[in-house]
Amino acid sequence: MQDALRPLIVSGYARLARAPIVASLVSLEDLYLGVLIAAKDMSVRLRPELKVGESFHDEHIVEEAVRSGALTKDESLLQLLVRLRGSAPPESLLRAITNSLTDRYYGLESLALASLMERSDHSLKIHALPDVSGYAQTPEEKLALARSWLRCWSRPGFWLSRMPPAWWLRDVQPRSGKFKTMSRLLRDKGAQSLFEKEWVPQLLSLFAVQTAPGKFRLEGRELSLAIGGEWASCQSCRTAQRPFPGRTTCVNCGEDTAVRIDPDSDPVFAARKGYYRASTIDALRTPPTAPMVLIAAEHTAQLNTAQTVEAFSKAEEHELLFQDVDLGRRRQGASGRRSMFFPARQRWRLVSTSVLSRASRSATCPQPAQTTSSAQAARVGAEPQWQP
Ligand SMILES: [Zn+2]
Repeated sequence: MQDALRPLIVSGYARLARAPIVASLVSLEDLYLGVLIAAKDMSVRLRPELKVGESFHDEHIVEEAVRSGALTKDESLLQLLVRLRGSAPPESLLRAITNSLTDRYYGLESLALASLMERSDHSLKIHALPDVSGYAQTPEEKLALARSWLRCWSRPGFWLSRMPPAWWLRDVQPRSGKFKTMSRLLRDKGAQSLFEKEWVPQLLSLFAVQTAPGKFRLEGRELSLAIGGEWASCQSCRTAQRPFPGRTTCVNCGEDTAVRIDPDSDPVFAARKGYYRASTIDALRTPPTAPMVLIAAEHTAQLNTAQTVEAFSKAEEHELLFQDVDLGRRRQGASGRRSMFFPARQRWRLVSTSVLSRASRSATCPQPAQTTSSAQAARVGAEPQWQP
């Protein structure tokens, strides 16, 4: 699901961050709205698995708002933003969204697509933090230092107000705010000490809440996404990262081997990550290229009872569609294209044919195995292909 969602997350969030009135308010709390807007914008049908009591009605709210021009009217977009902040995303979708940000290997930063940054109205507060001699004296260096600290929270994660309480301490964890990783960047003892005494308490008050003595939780509502911009890749450990002004110190391994790259054209980076970046880059183009049609359907007991007017139960219908059995026009998608279903629990991965064709041109990209279903999907041209 991550491959499918990544383009929607990045292009939808970029859209919100560009809108003048909402730009200073937009935070990671709005990732859900961004995904829904991008899905509507690119006519991508999204069907997340729903738990008992959950609804995906927000999709219709966003559809109606987009249809009446909310994307071009700041006031309407602001209303939509406020309204969606009050509703709960389906848990499966929220998990897929947060995983797309925090995944160590296929997360947005690892793929040089986007990285964590402060919500835009915090930038001036970071400029006002005391100089760290030799490391952070200009506004640009101070932002880079604060963002390096935010990066240290990738493992413990950030908290969103609509996360289920059960995720706390399991999926999102507290930290003290003092990270060993920062000492790889700030090698000078005096700079380390000043950072821990003067910066960390202020960064914690801006970006985190205290949950226990000496323990803090990073708050997604105080954070935003930096999309595009400059990137570096470490020649020692191959970690993608933002370049620190005037330095080549790798934030991961501490070697002075983090060199600036263009992730779109660097042959080594493209060979390793290009396959996973392609659909997001396509979605950011003008006009955007939609990633795929994506529908997740559950084979559960609750779906197994056929309604009196239906010949098949939902589970039977999904199974037949999955086997490429034609159930007639009424069963096909609104666009007239065949609907494709998959049981979410089997963790099927799907990619668009355009991504696959790019992959097949590159010898170093992972080659997906052809399955009966993908071979069938290939017959309908633009339809997505499947791979386990
Ligand atoms: Zn490194």
